[in-house]
Amino acid sequence: MKDDSPELFAAPKSRLVPVLVPMPAPVPYSYAVPEGMAVEPGSIVQVPLGPRQVIGVVWDGPEGGEVDPRKLRPIEKVFDCPPIDKDMRSFLDWVAGYTLSPPGLVARMALRAPAALDPDPMVEGLRFSGTVPERMTSARRKVLDLAGDGLSWTKSGLAHASGVSASVIDGLAAQGVFETVFLPPPPLVAKPDADYAQARLEGPQKQAAEDILEGIRSGGFSVALIDGVTGSGKTEVYFEAIAETIRQGRQVLILLPEIALTANFLERFHDRFGSKPAEWHSDLATRTREKVWRQAATGEVRVVAGARSALFLPFEDLGLIIVDEEHDPAFKQEDRVFYNARDMAVVRARIGDFPVVLVSATPSVESQVNCLAGRYRRIHLPTRFAGAALPDLHLVDMRRHPPERGGFLSPVLLKAVGKTVERGEQALLFLNRRGYAPLTLCRVCGHRFQCPQCSSWLVEHRFRGQIQCHQCGYAEPTPQACPECGTLDHLVACGPGVERIAEEVERHFPDARTLVLSSDLGGVKRLRLELEAIADGEADIVIGTQLVAKGHNFPLMTLVGIVDADIGLANGDPRAAERTFQLLSQVTGRAGRTGRKSHGLIQTFQPQHPVMQALVSGDAAAFYEREIAERERAGLPPFGRLVSIIVSADTRGEAETHARQLRHSAPSMDGVAILGPAEAPLALIRGRHRFRLLVHGRRSSDMQAFVRTMLERGPKERRSIHVQVDVDPQSFL
Ligand code: ADP
Ligand code: ZN
Repeated sequence: MKDDSPELFAAPKSRLVPVLVPMPAPVPYSYAVPEGMAVEPGSIVQVPLGPRQVIGVVWDGPEGGEVDPRKLRPIEKVFDCPPIDKDMRSFLDWVAGYTLSPPGLVARMALRAPAALDPDPMVEGLRFSGTVPERMTSARRKVLDLAGDGLSWTKSGLAHASGVSASVIDGLAAQGVFETVFLPPPPLVAKPDADYAQARLEGPQKQAAEDILEGIRSGGFSVALIDGVTGSGKTEVYFEAIAETIRQGRQVLILLPEIALTANFLERFHDRFGSKPAEWHSDLATRTREKVWRQAATGEVRVVAGARSALFLPFEDLGLIIVDEEHDPAFKQEDRVFYNARDMAVVRARIGDFPVVLVSATPSVESQVNCLAGRYRRIHLPTRFAGAALPDLHLVDMRRHPPERGGFLSPVLLKAVGKTVERGEQALLFLNRRGYAPLTLCRVCGHRFQCPQCSSWLVEHRFRGQIQCHQCGYAEPTPQACPECGTLDHLVACGPGVERIAEEVERHFPDARTLVLSSDLGGVKRLRLELEAIADGEADIVIGTQLVAKGHNFPLMTLVGIVDADIGLANGDPRAAERTFQLLSQVTGRAGRTGRKSHGLIQTFQPQHPVMQALVSGDAAAFYEREIAERERAGLPPFGRLVSIIVSADTRGEAETHARQLRHSAPSMDGVAILGPAEAPLALIRGRHRFRLLVHGRRSSDMQAFVRTMLERGPKERRSIHVQVDVDPQSFL
């Protein structure tokens, strides 16, 4: 760096360190370490950035470096919390490189709880001072029996433990019996006890647990896939792995796709380990999130059960990750940093050199292929625990058993629902569509209600009296008249959503208690309550979206009806068949989990489709074999690689031009080809026009290098244009 200003040459040399700031910058920035400040790689610091103060992490890399001394600014402060350790820093770098995301944005995911960076204030407590009270009562005696040994207590803790009221403690304190002490804040959750209530594993469970424990005892990185039908006892088996890791004194992370709703899971964990795991998901109160973050970092929290973002918690000593429902699409984040938490969990375990256990009743094709190739160990649980039968599944051919006019439920399904309710059992009708109807149109002029800023129809929600866009959230009151031709009261709802199915059910079963369960009908608290109510038998007929599919245990549920099994099959997604099979297996698996005889009825217009055949035959293996062979033939994941690039802009022309220029900037690489650009199926979202490019390569291709070169050589990104890169895309809209 050239600078002739003499006083700058004279400035004292300060130590420079790279700091990763939570910004889309490609590299860390250099900051000066003020005299007397101690930092190391991983230290969490506050630094000035432009006019703001931001939180960053001291990163690895050469210290010093050339910086314009006029721009050089000092680190403001080092937080009093454990530094982000080497493994976590390597992990964050790896994720950034793989997903082609700026490292600063990835690091930001690990720093999501800023107020947690300083320790919680100490809490006031008391300790026996040696002074005995003038007058002894039996209540006072109880207190002194406990506190007399000189250990510290909180006031409420001591009152509670000795079974007296707080005023007894106050009275003693007033006489100088206690001195004030300051205690560290209590941990968020008690430490789990590995041997609290061990289940007696039976049959194939026993072998499965032994297999897993072997991996855990021998230590080091390994991947196991527990593949077992719903209700086979997979959870009990991986609880053994957790217990062993707790005994080893290391921390455990359990990733669950819908953790906010699985109160049931937390209770089961409590029954087994005597305390709940710490929860981590977006519905937690900010204070709680901060505590979980800090106590995972300090090691006070031993087990976290969380949504995908829990993978970025800075554990003190992580020793095991469980990914339950590993096939679930909810593990994929499609926002800012596009990553699949299942895959990144394996990476984190490899970097940390510890085991990871994937769990599913319907494992992803990717994981199955990894087992076949010997990279993952498959642990199979073929039958339900304690001989409970899987539901008896049948297809309802909708061409032969059509519903009555205006309805969506075939007479076959209605009859089965009636019988179930008569027996005092529960029926679940599953339809993965929120609202009343997915499309509204005017009977007179044919006008269709479309979102003004997205290429999607407005969905009628009758409970709310609105039509809504499921892409952007735009909503307006359901109109009475057509905005196009002005005709009153001639709007028709096309197709069913759960609210409409509920209406049909109520028409047929006016005396039954029906309940609609859908994510737009209330917050997490309300949903949790409703799920509990269902488990307690407070509803006869439940109509639900995929929310009901996940991990719940409904003892009375003996019938599951799939309203429209074909819904997900025709959307151009290479995983459409796999996804449909997984979702429908999971939903029908809700039935009969406690041993009652149970049924599943699947309404379809394509009874010959391989997915439908696989569901009713129970021959998952044959389905997967075919699916895997097809992927291999087409070179689709996991046999080939995909990267999706979406260019969006304010105008269609700009988006298309930019996408074309990007394509022309692509390097040539053996085995890598680009499809598109083509207008995305969702051509417009929030007023932005979208074009897609799909890069297709071999399993061995360096897709990241290809795309990086393409982006570097490509046109400069202007303000109005946004380019989104999705490595291993799950969504093709
Ligand atoms: P999965 O996770 O495969 O769906 P679960 O672990 O939930 O299966 O087991 C299904 C049911 O069987 C649960 O109610 C569970 O408590 C019970 N169960 C499984 N294994 C045992 C066991 N070894 N002892 C007692 N109950 C068990
Ligand atoms: Zn919209």
